[in-house]
Amino acid sequence: MKITRLRIAGFKSFVDATDVSIEPGLSGVVGPNGCGKSNLVEALRFVMGESSFKAMRGSGMDDVIFAGSTNRPARNAAEVSLQAIVDGAAAAHVMKPGQTPATSTELEISRRIEREAGSTYRVNGREVRARDVHILFADAATGARSSALVRQGQIGELIAAKPKDRRSILEDAAGISGLHSRRHEAELK
Ligand code: ATP
Ligand code: MG
Repeated sequence: MKITRLRIAGFKSFVDATDVSIEPGLSGVVGPNGCGKSNLVEALRFVMGESSFKAMRGSGMDDVIFAGSTNRPARNAAEVSLQAIVDGAAAAHVMKPGQTPATSTELEISRRIEREAGSTYRVNGREVRARDVHILFADAATGARSSALVRQGQIGELIAAKPKDRRSILEDAAGISGLHSRRHEAELK
């Protein structure tokens, strides 16, 4: 999966719609303390389906919504969308029934949260379940809980981790996390 664009509106300190295009190669985010570097990464985590508000340094999910500042009123909703080029096999899960994906396809994945009303997810404008977004990213071996996003302090945790927890990192690297998500889905049906 190749993420090409991130659009953030009303999320944490990003009160105005902000478009970030991600060019090929290595990208860096630089800026003074408190300018929103971590918030940017958390926006990425959010649209990928993060369900832990603690992982986004909040005490409730609504804390990701712009809370207001001295001269701007608080918002009632936050929306993050990302554009990505996704492998056909991973995209198949979120396509309309009967649609066959090409070898790789461009998807727009978005998540919107409204105060006290929870989140909705869309893929190319069509509403999907949070679980579908989780499976999409797990199939692509990336996502909020994958080893593709490394939190501050996480390296130390890995060194101290139990073997079972380390196994999930290997599974993610081997690209079989999607299978685990699907097995869980099958058990729910
Ligand atoms: P550092 O270099 O210290 O790591 P950073 O660039 O990573 O800084 P962030 O942690 O991303 O900075 O941004 C912190 C800022 O985001 C703070 O000013 C905080 O008030 C603001 N912020 C966080 N949540 C919200 C919210 N819900 N509404 C408005 N502003 C918020
Ligand atoms: Mg930071």
